[in-house]
Amino acid sequence: MREIKTSRERRPLRLLPRFVGLRCPVCGLSSIVQRPFKIKDQCPVCGALFKREEGFFVGAISVNVVTTELVILAVYLACLPWIGSYYQQVLVILFTLALLFPVAFYHHSWSLWLCLDHFVETLPRDAAHVAGQVASENKEIGPQT
Ligand SMILES: [Zn+2]
Repeated sequence: MREIKTSRERRPLRLLPRFVGLRCPVCGLSSIVQRPFKIKDQCPVCGALFKREEGFFVGAISVNVVTTELVILAVYLACLPWIGSYYQQVLVILFTLALLFPVAFYHHSWSLWLCLDHFVETLPRDAAHVAGQVASENKEIGPQT
């Protein structure tokens, strides 16, 4: 049987590449994305629940909103030297950014939210998945006499 390395380490340096690569924060072996703009309910490899309860998505939305605001602020500050002479163009850039960035950052906002949640309190695992792993491990060992 294939051994699954489910590193439950929660160090930021281990979680960073998983966030960037949209990988499961627990094992890093599976993508969190089922299809564009659809996040999986759980990791098929380790059983970590990506949607652990009703309303859990609000955290991902909050991450997306805050990140968008920070990016808009950073671009605004970068444009300050030109805002006097190109006021209308700067507004168009900021408005376009405010519309497009949250859409482009959707999957990464989920990934960041899941990594933050895993870092703070570890993502829960699906009980059926854990029971299946235990059953297969016991099967390998054989009956205890
Ligand atoms: Zn996983």
